[in-house]
Amino acid sequence: MPSEFDIIRQYFSPQSISQTRDDVILGIGDDAAILAVPDQHQLVQSVDTLVSGVHFPVATSPEDIAYKALAVNLSDMAAMGAKPAWFALAITLPTDDEEWLKAFSQSLLSLAEKYNMQLIGGDTTRGPLSISITINGFVPTGKALTRNTARVTDKIYVSGCIGEAALALAAWQGQCLLNEESINVINEKLNRPQPQVELGLLLSDYASACIDISDGLIADLAHITDNSQVGARIIFEKIPLSKEFKQNLTDDALIVPLVLSGGDDYQLCFTIPEKNNDEFKKIIKNTAILVTCIGEIEKESGVRCIKDNKEINISEMGYQHFISD
Ligand code: ADP
Ligand code: MG
Repeated sequence: MPSEFDIIRQYFSPQSISQTRDDVILGIGDDAAILAVPDQHQLVQSVDTLVSGVHFPVATSPEDIAYKALAVNLSDMAAMGAKPAWFALAITLPTDDEEWLKAFSQSLLSLAEKYNMQLIGGDTTRGPLSISITINGFVPTGKALTRNTARVTDKIYVSGCIGEAALALAAWQGQCLLNEESINVINEKLNRPQPQVELGLLLSDYASACIDISDGLIADLAHITDNSQVGARIIFEKIPLSKEFKQNLTDDALIVPLVLSGGDDYQLCFTIPEKNNDEFKKIIKNTAILVTCIGEIEKESGVRCIKDNKEINISEMGYQHFISD
């Protein structure tokens, strides 16, 4: 049975990390890491924990667990407009399953490499499986995207398609039937969300506010409007849906809640001031990034969603906590 030191050395130590960054003065192996933040930049930090049986089904593969644990943290960097740099891994392991550890660390480090990130430390303990990642990134001083700076008349945008992860979960739980091809496509969306890091970096020059959609479109947009002391109106028909929705679902009673309240998409929801809108559209056209304008920031507090020219009663759908007092 490998000791904790063997595990760290074999799976997480510098030898197993293919890239190293100049700004890591001292990485894994001492009591703490020493890191250098570039001049004229601020450090942006976030932590997210995934617990087996709570945040992912017990049977999830080690590759998918590792991918998602880092991807959700990368998504927080994207939402802040930050460039990811370093991460630390606190892992609690029930057993010394070396096959599992190998698959986990390979998947984790290969996603890290894609974003030129370095694992700079962590903690390894025994107990029920849980993975906690602390991520660090940089923004040029004063350029971070926050939730509290949306203004009336700003355009509301989302990236990608909305509700895909919720659709995968609904199918998995037997709430709807999908054709074979759609199941594979949509499961990939749930297990391998693509953090919108490139978009986040681009948005720091154009957006007034930004959030990543982890709890659901309405819930996360409500974080922007509440923190900014404004409201929002979105048009349901404008929300981009993937072809898996269109091919498999016809019942609005199922579609609407999946799209408006389904979480785990890790797309960005952001606001663009009118004065930046034309330039933003021009810039985004030159990239492969999909963004869609779905509404506008208004003075009246709360989030309103219009479908078939009528306001959907969000409160009836279990969104009580979004209604302002
Ligand atoms: P300490 O007892 O001083 O906290 P540890 O024995 O926990 O040190 O860890 C030794 C070194 O290995 C530290 O540099 C720590 O950051 C690193 N480390 C421990 N667990 C992990 C892990 N899961 N991933 C990456 N580095 C780790
Ligand atoms: Mg320790």
